[in-house]
Amino acid sequence: MARLLSDAVSLTESQRLVRSSVRDVCSDFDREYWRRRAAEGEYPHEFVDALADHGWMGILVPEEYGGAGMGTQETVVMMEEIAANGGGFSAAQAIHGGVYNTVPIVEYASEELKDELLPRVADGETSIQAFGLTEPNAGSNATAIETRAEHDGDEYVINGQKVWTSRVDVSDYIVLVARTTPLEDVEKRTRGISMFLVDLAAAHEQGALEMEAIPKSASEFVHSFELWFDDLRVPAANLIGVEGEGFSQVLDGLNEERLVIAAECLGLGRLALDRAVEYANDRHVFDRSIGSNQAIQHPLAEAYARLQAAKQLTYNAAARAASDEEVDLGAYANAAKFLAADAAYEAADAAVQTHGGFGVATEYDVERYFREARLTRLVPITQELALNYLGENVLGLPRSY
Ligand SMILES: Cc1cc2nc3c(=O)[nH]c(=O)nc-3n(C[C@H](O)[C@H](O)[C@H](O)COP(=O)(O)OP(=O)(O)OC[C@H]3O[C@@H](n4cnc5c(N)ncnc54)[C@H](O)[C@@H]3O)c2cc1C
Repeated sequence: MARLLSDAVSLTESQRLVRSSVRDVCSDFDREYWRRRAAEGEYPHEFVDALADHGWMGILVPEEYGGAGMGTQETVVMMEEIAANGGGFSAAQAIHGGVYNTVPIVEYASEELKDELLPRVADGETSIQAFGLTEPNAGSNATAIETRAEHDGDEYVINGQKVWTSRVDVSDYIVLVARTTPLEDVEKRTRGISMFLVDLAAAHEQGALEMEAIPKSASEFVHSFELWFDDLRVPAANLIGVEGEGFSQVLDGLNEERLVIAAECLGLGRLALDRAVEYANDRHVFDRSIGSNQAIQHPLAEAYARLQAAKQLTYNAAARAASDEEVDLGAYANAAKFLAADAAYEAADAAVQTHGGFGVATEYDVERYFREARLTRLVPITQELALNYLGENVLGLPRSY
């Protein structure tokens, strides 16, 4: 079954290479490893280091900076495999930032910053795992951010608060988004926002950063924080791109990243379905395997069909993104993320039901997959906001926000 889903689409030569190499790394980390990480709430350092040793943290870093120079087509494979091979959505989340935060650096940072950072990220020496956009008063409505960065000589001084910032505890840098011009002074709310690279050790040394972990019910080994910045001084050279244009820089590449998130959901769904089929065959009740009951079989078959459909859309869109074709990637990416998250949720729910009472026992893992699948409907964009995009930009309906 897993083979069927993993072979659901035809892969390019380089996608096949990525798949076998990433599977190989993942095979050293068994179910027990992930179970322990979840029970202890400990970041999977060994797993991330193994991926970094094989160069995978630099998958999107151009070859001239020592990276693999690959694109979305290869990254969807890598992240789906990471999720599908036991680690689930959380394993993908453990490295997602480290992979994707290189994108604005590659596209917009100064040559000095690129030369200094990218080779070190590509060989796993340095990590840029954290991305700080969301604030207590600005989640879905991201342009409402209130964190301020004020230019002061050759520095910026940053004050404000972020929430839900993930992996700050395991990162050397954070890509921080702040307002350089107050909302009331800009023509368009997307203007006046800038992006900074912040050295976290330097921020702590200045005593300008406080952080507090947010207790949560999913992804227990990837921690998210509330952050407070108090007169944090950042060198002006650490501005990424153009002052005031940070929001369009955030949006740039977002659709391709969203396809990768969809692939992570697909990997989680595959994993849940695998476990459910295994249990459905093994468990005997009334002298026959529970999988011979259609009440058990059909939800699993339905989950398979939904995952299969979402996978076709995701991989097709990734292929079109890599082509020269003019394509409305936003339409594909938002639909793919929406469908993949729902498909993962239904697969995980069916996996729990298949396990009967053991569906909530941690030793069978499916309760963890279920909690993670629930999370995929909230992050990095909620299902409602993905539908808002389709309603407004694809169907031409009035903007609702
Ligand atoms: C585990 C986790 C990790 C995260 N990691 C990061 C991170 O590393 N960096 C970062 O910047 N952020 C991170 N986030 C934040 C995440 O991106 C936000 O939670 C998400 O964008 C939703 O914002 P919100 O929670 O403020 O919800 P809100 O914006 O308050 O929305 C609440 C509800 O209202 C709905 N809603 C709001 N407006 C509309 C509308 N116009 N139409 C229809 N429905 C609407 C939403 O869909 C949602 O269901 C993380 C969140 C979680 C849970």
